[in-house]
Order: sequence, then structure tokens, then C-alpha cells
Amino acid sequence: MICRKVKANLANLLFDPESVPVDVRNHLEDCAACSEELVTLEATMKLMDEWQAPEPSSYFDSKLAVRLREEQRAEPAGMLERVRARLLFGSNTHLRPIAVGALALLIIIGGGTYAGLMSSHSTPAKTSATVEDLKSLDDNAQVFQQLNSLDQNDQDDSGSSSPNL
Ligand SMILES: [Zn+2]
Repeated sequence: MICRKVKANLANLLFDPESVPVDVRNHLEDCAACSEELVTLEATMKLMDEWQAPEPSSYFDSKLAVRLREEQRAEPAGMLERVRARLLFGSNTHLRPIAVGALALLIIIGGGTYAGLMSSHSTPAKTSATVEDLKSLDDNAQVFQQLNSLDQNDQDDSGSSSPNL
């Protein structure tokens, strides 16, 4: 019971022991497990004090610039890969909501198709399953076209706005 209180107060015990209730502090003297935990935390903190982030090598900037230029010259990746990359790292933040919306649309269409398949098991559909599949494929193709044109726009304005490396 009091062990749990000690664990909740470990940081306070280390940095501001006065703020910790006396019974919790006294427990440290009786309980080897708790006092060891405090010692461990203290050791960790000391290590963190000594730890220093390594400096990047002096070539880091030029290497990065070379990498960026290589990526710009490289063959364009597949559309899905580009959408994914833009969502993850995209600097064109104004396009991000549009791309997210388009992906959500894809998911909705995908979910709708799935729901349609599920319901066609219970009630006989008027149109054949093949027709339904073709319809949903057509819908998906439209979304892909929209994504593609989005992508084209993006390439156009990134060409004019990106700084020359
Ligand atoms: Zn304890």
C-alpha cells in the first residue's frame, strides 16, 4: 500500500523531499525495494546529466543537400506512396486536409462496398454482384483520378515555390 505511494512520489522524493508526506519518507528506511528504486532513479538522473547529444558531423548539411537533390531527380514514386509520403512529411500543409478527405472518401467507398456485399447475402440484389463490383471500381477510379490531378497541381506549385538547392 505505502509502496505504491512511494512509487507515485519517487520524483518528488528525489527533487523535493520536503513535499512528500513524512510516513512515505520514513517508509524508505524500512523498505529495501522502495529505497533501491529511489537509488536507481537517482543514478538514472545522474547519467542523464552526463549524457550529451552527439554533434552532427560537419558534412551533415552537404550530405543532406545531396540526398534531397537525388530524391528530386529520382523517378516519381507510385501515387499511393506519394500520398502517404505527403501525409507523413508533406510541407504542403494546405493540401493535407484535401488528401486526408480523399483518403477518407476511399475508405467510405471501400466500407460501402463491404456493407453492400454483406447485405447482398441476406436480400437478393436486383443487379448482379459483377455489376455492383464494376460500379464500385468505377467510383474508385474517379477518386484515383481526382487524387492524380491533385498530385499534378501539387507538383506544379512545388516547382515554383521550392527554394533552389
Ligand atoms: Zn516499499
